[in-house]
Amino acid sequence: MPDNSRTLTIALSKGRILDDTLPLLEHANLVPKEDVRKTRKLMVDGPTINGTMVRFLIIRAADVCTYVERGAADIGISGRDLLLEHRPHVYEPLDLKIGVCRLCVCGPKELVEKGAPKEGSRIRIATKYDYLAEQHFLKLSVQAEIIHLYGSMELAPLVGMAERIIDVVETGNTLRANGLVEETTMFDISSRLIVNPASFATKKALIQPIIENLREAVDRNSAS
Ligand code: AMP
Repeated sequence: MPDNSRTLTIALSKGRILDDTLPLLEHANLVPKEDVRKTRKLMVDGPTINGTMVRFLIIRAADVCTYVERGAADIGISGRDLLLEHRPHVYEPLDLKIGVCRLCVCGPKELVEKGAPKEGSRIRIATKYDYLAEQHFLKLSVQAEIIHLYGSMELAPLVGMAERIIDVVETGNTLRANGLVEETTMFDISSRLIVNPASFATKKALIQPIIENLREAVDRNSAS
């Protein structure tokens, strides 16, 4: 096993929120030594802070909470949607206020206009949020058949595979382009800083100032 006591490992998501994440990290002096948007490396070195080497893992968004929960990363940045779906045992000390969107139940306009699914009815839901979908429809006493998809949920109602989807919506452009509308907003979503509880205990002197620097960067973003 590698000696993790002299390193601080930060798990970042590939993709759309990386551009918004990097300026926040820069404010906390956490600058990767390579352009993480371009490199094909999955692990990139960062600065050395008080003798501790920082390194970044560049991984799929859905995997960040797994790496942090298992202590393979000390810190991570994860969407609230994934935290609610996977419920990892991690601390969540800071709302980074980036990647802002909402988790919604959506459906074809003509179906949604007929009204929400009634108590006791059966409905097929295409989603990658199986747990959240199940919980949502359980509360409504609607029998939901969850159809797990990995992306492009919007297609499922168009080809008659599902009556509704549960997905994240930002501008609503993708829904509109596919003739779908929002029926219910389930949660507001943004990216959160997450910390492994054991790392927080053993590396508090390093992690606490990072949280404070990131908090300052978030406040500065909100003010501008
Ligand atoms: P939009 O057309 O702006 O509503 O974006 C919707 C599409 O982008 C959906 O396919 C979503 O899966 C994806 N999306 C939007 N915002 C986010 C986000 N913050 N994180 C991950 N995926 C997102």
